[in-house]
Amino acid sequence: MIPQQQKPPIIWLNVTLFTLTFAIAVIGVPLYFYFYTLDFTLIFMTIMAFCYCGLSITAGYHRLWAHQSYQANRFLRVIFALGGAFALQNSILHWCSDHRIHHRYVDNNLKDPYSAKMGFFYSHIGWMLRRYQASRYHDYSNCADLQQDPIVVWQHKYYLILAAIMNIGVPITIGWVFGNMWGALLFVGVLRLVLSHHTTFFINSLAHKWGSQPYTDRNSARDNGLIAWLTFGEGYHNYHHIFENDYRNGIRWWQFDPTKWLIKSCSWLGWTTDLKVISADRIEKTRAKMEFTRLEYQLKTLPNNGARLLQLQYEYEALISKISDYYQVKRRLIDLRQKKLANDYENFEFMQQYESIKHKLKQQRRDWKYLVQQYTV
Ligand SMILES: [Zn+2]
Ligand SMILES: [Zn+2]
Repeated sequence: MIPQQQKPPIIWLNVTLFTLTFAIAVIGVPLYFYFYTLDFTLIFMTIMAFCYCGLSITAGYHRLWAHQSYQANRFLRVIFALGGAFALQNSILHWCSDHRIHHRYVDNNLKDPYSAKMGFFYSHIGWMLRRYQASRYHDYSNCADLQQDPIVVWQHKYYLILAAIMNIGVPITIGWVFGNMWGALLFVGVLRLVLSHHTTFFINSLAHKWGSQPYTDRNSARDNGLIAWLTFGEGYHNYHHIFENDYRNGIRWWQFDPTKWLIKSCSWLGWTTDLKVISADRIEKTRAKMEFTRLEYQLKTLPNNGARLLQLQYEYEALISKISDYYQVKRRLIDLRQKKLANDYENFEFMQQYESIKHKLKQQRRDWKYLVQQYTV
């Protein structure tokens, strides 16, 4: 704990903004429902505005600008830049600079701007309430690439004006069009902002506290399918912290990651390109390595563990080698399929070899799973 007298000065603008918007939403929304009937158009517009803000941060600020996990055309970048100003989470340049430091020095209380090791409140919102690490506020040297993007530079220069236009102009326009000014200001203006703020903040707080660590335990980031529902897919944070350049966070098709779906859908329109993915064998090996490390640690605490440690080492090495073999032949198969040669008689022997390697990996995966389950309490 930092003694009271040594704490950095309070940022009153942020304290006032967060407190006031939260209070208005918590008091105003129930009062509105008490005095007025439910307006479905208003609810729909609020949800749309909430999604626009959220996806501008996750697909734009985070996966596009902070991590460059894909490229987007000018139109989409302008849409995200305006949505980011609407979400009121500072400029792209500032946000990305903070976020790149977060990845580089994750959990380091002196350097990570929202270190989870400082506690839930600090990593959620506390870090924005005082002038912590003020010396680097205007140092964007880790975002030299972004300073080449005219849209990033433009948004940074006019951020306050854009934020005001979006946060005041959009609710007023909606209120005027649908004839419900107070409702629009309360729901699209304030409630949307509060929900957008706190669901994004969950990525720094909850996603570093609650969930599993299937890929690495070297930092506090967790995978949590439930948080993914609140954060447009950013809940698979353990995966993200180890493979930050992957445009996906939820790598399985069934994992809830609307940000990934948006980026992929836009690629079909030609709006996004160069979508980066980590190869499936690298992902599987990383996961197996984590399981191995965990099991080895557990076995070392048991008496007479020599034979079991040897078996673990043997099964792990067999798994890694079979993963390598399988993905090697799979790559060749994809190549043959592209050339429409997979069904050629000349490749009959290769196809048999492919099936056999695939079967061996399947068996090894089963043996490995059994071993992991044996020692998992
Ligand atoms: Zn994180
Ligand atoms: Zn990130």
